[in-house]
Amino acid sequence: MILNARDRVTRGLLSLARTPLLYYPYYRYHLPYPFVLLIENTNCCNARCVMCPRDTLTRKRGFMEFGLFEKIMNELAGARRKPVVHLHGFGEPLLDPLLPERIRLAKSCGIEHTYIVTNGSLLFPETSRKIIDAGLDRMKISFYGTDEESYNATMRRLDFKVALQNIKDFMRIRKELKKRTPKLILQYLPQEANGARIKEFQSLWRSLPDKNGGDCLNISSLDNFGGGRSYNIVGEKIVSVCFYPWTAMSVLWDGSAVTCCMDYNGVQNVGDVNCQSIEEIWNGPVLSAIRRNFGKRDYSGFPTCRNCDWVHRR
Ligand code: SF4
Ligand code: SF4
Repeated sequence: MILNARDRVTRGLLSLARTPLLYYPYYRYHLPYPFVLLIENTNCCNARCVMCPRDTLTRKRGFMEFGLFEKIMNELAGARRKPVVHLHGFGEPLLDPLLPERIRLAKSCGIEHTYIVTNGSLLFPETSRKIIDAGLDRMKISFYGTDEESYNATMRRLDFKVALQNIKDFMRIRKELKKRTPKLILQYLPQEANGARIKEFQSLWRSLPDKNGGDCLNISSLDNFGGGRSYNIVGEKIVSVCFYPWTAMSVLWDGSAVTCCMDYNGVQNVGDVNCQSIEEIWNGPVLSAIRRNFGKRDYSGFPTCRNCDWVHRR
């Protein structure tokens, strides 16, 4: 399973978390290690998508040092139950020339499931070959248009034809190499800028992905990015318990650990991987206190969560 706040599966799971009493035993305990570890290789991006709150990104931009990434991987290599590892954050992961090396290292450390989300604009044939060879397991490509006009108006600074060709080339190369991974998820986000043409999107990709091999299309929906945008109206009342602190942890490129990927400005810090281990942070006092508070639906002191539509929606 891959945790991503805008995936259908995660949305379903989040909706289950609206009955805190029912899940009380679950909220009392947590796994000894995160089920999903999100590692941001970079928060730089070559796009300026209309719905993305990058204009409110105040955090310093950068790329994770390979030494820090190695430190995390060395720890995971010794973990009994290894997490799913996301190798992206609030940026475009293919801007990172070290990404294939990071994937390779993660695989050699026994990570069974590696995953990235990319806009596909830099997925040129050579890069496709490198990430396939490195052993990436799954890749989601955000493709938020159905023609040149709608795509370019939504994924600003990117080019419909380039991204389309990259995706076609990727599928051809994966077939030539006789590989079935990375499995591909092609995601559409219906919204005003692209005319919300779900049927056109489905017919654009009807014959391309290898559905028998595990490729699929995903229709997502707009969210508020923890307050960075305001697409969904949120009331004052908190109605759900967010299960992220029981399931996943995010590490930003500079090594600071935060509650989840929605916290793109890194304001809900839970630790520092430069000087702490993942296990220490996960089982440490900060995350334990967060779990206690979240379990009581107390999000005071968590500005991103208070503005996150997940905990307000019924
Ligand atoms: S590609 Fe992703 S990170 Fe970059 S601007 Fe678009 S939504 Fe934001
Ligand atoms: S911002 Fe808070 S409430 Fe929203 S998904 Fe992240 S941890 Fe959960």
